[in-house]
Amino acid sequence: METYKMFIGGEWVESSENQVLKVLNPSTGLPVASVQSASRDDVGKAIDAARNSFDSGIWSRATPGDRSNVLLKVADLIEKNQDKFIKVETENSGKSIKQISGYDIPYTVDNIRFLAGACRTLEGKAMNEYVADGTSAIRREPIGAIGIITPWNYPLMMVVWRAFPALAMGNSVVVKPASYTPLTTLMLADILKEAGVPDGVFNVITGPGSSVGEEMAKSEKLDMIAFTGSTEVGKRLSVLAASNLKKVSLELGGKAPFIVFKDANIDAAVESAIVGGLVNNGQDCANSTRYYIQEEVFDKFVSLLKKRIQKLRIGDPMDPSTDMGPLISETQRERVEGYIEKGIKEGGKLLSGGERPEIPGHKKGYYINPALIYTENEDSAIVKEEIFGPVFTILKFKDYNDAIRRSNDVTYGLGSSVWTSDITTAMRATRDLRFGTVWVNEHVVVPSEMPWAGYKESGHGASLSPYSLEEFTYIKHVYFDLTGKVRKDWYDQIFKG
Ligand code: NAP
Repeated sequence: METYKMFIGGEWVESSENQVLKVLNPSTGLPVASVQSASRDDVGKAIDAARNSFDSGIWSRATPGDRSNVLLKVADLIEKNQDKFIKVETENSGKSIKQISGYDIPYTVDNIRFLAGACRTLEGKAMNEYVADGTSAIRREPIGAIGIITPWNYPLMMVVWRAFPALAMGNSVVVKPASYTPLTTLMLADILKEAGVPDGVFNVITGPGSSVGEEMAKSEKLDMIAFTGSTEVGKRLSVLAASNLKKVSLELGGKAPFIVFKDANIDAAVESAIVGGLVNNGQDCANSTRYYIQEEVFDKFVSLLKKRIQKLRIGDPMDPSTDMGPLISETQRERVEGYIEKGIKEGGKLLSGGERPEIPGHKKGYYINPALIYTENEDSAIVKEEIFGPVFTILKFKDYNDAIRRSNDVTYGLGSSVWTSDITTAMRATRDLRFGTVWVNEHVVVPSEMPWAGYKESGHGASLSPYSLEEFTYIKHVYFDLTGKVRKDWYDQIFKG
């Protein structure tokens, strides 16, 4: 079993307190590797490495073209080593190898190529004389040394979504991956070094969020924290980051509605409901979780969905025919089971699933069958809170206003979708839904060119698209006087010459 070190200042180092943490395979419950648990001193060294490399200008002053070429090499090297990335990510996350090889890795490579290209084409306000006496211009500059904290659900992808726009714009970063899934982030460090990212620009430290992550959030040497994870931790980090008013970018939880009107193509909606609800074993911030179905088509939708769920192949993530693997941990499985219980206690009716399946050879894996629950209790925890597991909460609605009002009535605002064949209903819904993404007759798709961003307690800031590049920059106004006069005409308004 491999013991991974941390990557600080271009070197692989052990924890200064010789502490290691086990990393498990969620489909067996057995360890697959160990990683270092960073001490306070280690966190400080990683932050110093990022700070010094940024201040040296070695990366921050490189041209966008030069940075882009290095990041494009990273994309090529991930592709070249994709078999290893696919194997490690599958073993460590429990997601199906089908999803990781067909979607996670190629999509992540596409994200990198997009960001690498887009950093060369930033746009903005034209340089011009917005007052008669002078010329104004806009500069976009890197923010500095940035702490990046990522979740376990898309280990490699989430570090790319946060660290790569930062790197593309010339920042230096310290990344702390989730303790459940740190392995591919550590593998990435070698690739960045090989591609030519200078020492100190990309650092990876591992260890518990409650110590390592908090230390980063408090640090006065970091200029920004970019966090992807739960709303609860996002709120805590915002408080800690206030110590030096560092910039905070938050990509947090979701509770996506999936609204099916009576004129929708029900077969298409059911196919997408399965994918939207179960992508990533139901552990995706975009997952469709609240299925609002118009009463006229309710029975048809539910009966088709039930049949479709029964056909799912739940099993060994390494088997290419597996559709759904285990949840990330025992804690996560118990949390999901707790929500199912609560949903029933609060008036919901379990229509199918929710049990622990027997998977031959994987008795200790954290498996659960997808659960389908119908409820009329709009205030139930399964309607309002993020479960982050394979639970389909089914609700009935009467008309447009009823569906939109109830869909918006959550603290989250990340993804949402609407199913209809009527263009006016679709257009109205895209206006009225208070979510960062509204899909029409689809759910989950986010092209690299488009932003993934939250409303309300789903956070602020954007991943992907040119907006994510701007997120990791300061905006600077530069003004040039054009008169050459000792006293400009307007000075008299302030004091008479
Ligand atoms: P989490 O518990 O909030 O953890 C996320 C990261 O924060 C981990 O690296 C964790 O470290 C660290 N952390 C935990 N407590 C911390 C603290 N007090 N201070 C600083 N860092 C701390 O979230 P998760 O369970 O990994 O991920 C699931 C959540 O992420 C869901 O809510 C999901 O919706 C959200 N998510 C959002 C997006 C998006 O784009 N909006 C994308 C993916 C996931 P440890 O692992 O060591 O605890």
